[in-house]
Amino acid sequence: MLGEKTENISNQLFEIMNNTVFTRDFISGIAGDAVLSGDDKNKYEKLLKDSGDDLYVKILFYITHQAFLPEDAKKIWEEILAHKYVLSKILGRNVEITVATLDYLTHVKSRIENPKLIGEAFMGKIAELSSSDGLTKLYNRSYLFEKAKDELERYQRYNTTFSLIILDIDDFKKINDQYGHQKGDEILQKLGIILDGARRDLDICARYGGEEFAIILPHTSSSEAGMIAERIRKNVEDHFRIDIGITISIGISTCPDSSIVLEELIKIADDALYESKRSGKNKVTIK
Ligand code: GH3
Ligand code: MG
Ligand code: MG
Repeated sequence: MLGEKTENISNQLFEIMNNTVFTRDFISGIAGDAVLSGDDKNKYEKLLKDSGDDLYVKILFYITHQAFLPEDAKKIWEEILAHKYVLSKILGRNVEITVATLDYLTHVKSRIENPKLIGEAFMGKIAELSSSDGLTKLYNRSYLFEKAKDELERYQRYNTTFSLIILDIDDFKKINDQYGHQKGDEILQKLGIILDGARRDLDICARYGGEEFAIILPHTSSSEAGMIAERIRKNVEDHFRIDIGITISIGISTCPDSSIVLEELIKIADDALYESKRSGKNKVTIK
């Protein structure tokens, strides 16, 4: 299991991959490859103040995609900078920080006593965080897009059909207004569990937006997708019937029948969903 401290760092590293604080220019600047702009200088000072030695974990993670323990990271960073200086002197030209880091870690690292790399389980955790939705534990939107692109590539190579289901909770605003946001969140979580339970091995279920979900169904025609969607629609209706009457509306598009362009497939599934809404909700529409 990951300790609390490690978990905390993994959340921070996840942020690094998703924010724009760490850019190549910024790292080059603090390593002396380029001149730090005034803005970056302020940013650096603020980061040092806020993160302390964790800053070096982040810098090293940005460059190497490896997570070092905070107690090692500062020392390693300083040794990399020294190594960079020596290499540059020997070669008579500036050796960039990324090159110096790689050279240091592959050739000189053994000089450090016990440099502790945090293991694969930790990196797995980061990968998981960056592809999953926090509330429902389904995949998130960006992962869904990646997988949809993979499916399109598979279609281009092997001519394999796949379908896309987009679904949206009916009148969810009213539910939130009536029962509160907390209850709304619980419903989203429950829906996540229902969708995950209904999917087949290869299907990818994701939270697409606030109360919208999407499923990629590899090797699935539009009529098969229609049957699966109808089963999901009914599962949801039945599950919430005795509690709060929650229903969902569904739209489906299929590659290549609807389109072979990702944006169009999404738009067509969205249009189909809108048609389900317009014609009374709690319905499945195939386009
Ligand atoms: P429709 O049947 O046309 O889809 O109506 P709707 O009320 O579901 O749609 P609308 O887009 O008007 O409202 C969506 C609501 O979903 C509003 C917003 O508060 C709620 N919502 C979105 N994300 C979350 C969330 O993470 N948690 C909770 N509790 N509610 C959310
Ligand atoms: Mg919506
Ligand atoms: Mg809705």
